[in-house]
Amino acid sequence: MRVDILTLFPGMFEGFLNQSILKRAQTKGIVELHIHDLRNYSQDKHKNVDDYAFGGGAGMVMMAEPIVLCIEELCAERSYDEIIFMSPDGELLNQAMANQLSLKNNLIMICGRYKGIDQRVRDHWVSMEISIGEYVLTGGELAAAVVSDAIIRLIPGVLSDESSALSDSFQGELLDAPVYTRPENFRGHIVPEVLLSGDHKKIDEWRYEQSLKKSERHKQAEE
Ligand code: SAH
Repeated sequence: MRVDILTLFPGMFEGFLNQSILKRAQTKGIVELHIHDLRNYSQDKHKNVDDYAFGGGAGMVMMAEPIVLCIEELCAERSYDEIIFMSPDGELLNQAMANQLSLKNNLIMICGRYKGIDQRVRDHWVSMEISIGEYVLTGGELAAAVVSDAIIRLIPGVLSDESSALSDSFQGELLDAPVYTRPENFRGHIVPEVLLSGDHKKIDEWRYEQSLKKSERHKQAEE
């Protein structure tokens, strides 16, 4: 998979995408992440990328041209499955969406700033809009990082144990069961005995029960 991220703040991705599992996915050649600085596509001498909103009102708007020039440059090289704009009013990210996106080959993600991007880019170039929750961030960078993380970990070969992602919460009907590691006794808090029993049938039953209970509580909290 190749992901191209269009942003005014490329530095924001450095730490995040170059650590741990996302780093390994790139080193293994499973994923290519390319960060593009939209300022490099500005056509004016001051490298402006935003301007006042037509009709007035507070806040600047990201101009269409730098974004579209960058999209055109990328699309001339390869075809993209989706051109995604990160937006609080987009389709809400969930595990089903992450599963679908993890099957794609090439994705563009556009990070907005200020009041957002010129609506004409959304109307004529963007194919999908994703929100990571019903709240407003200062920019789309964190949202693009969240979406990238959620989809890249699902690509075969990225996690060392692939079955791990399948048992995650939201992957099936049930939330994941609680997990414990050494020591058995941590400050007087003991690991559930069944997990130490070595009886895999019993352990599976216990995990299933725990998952059921957690899922019920989650459902009730949502209602
Ligand atoms: N005026 C806009 C918000 C702009 S916030 C509105 O009310 O809809 C600036 C940018 O941050 C947005 O263009 C978007 O790219 C990003 N952003 C903010 N909140 C987000 C969210 N919940 N999900 C995805 N992207 C978000």
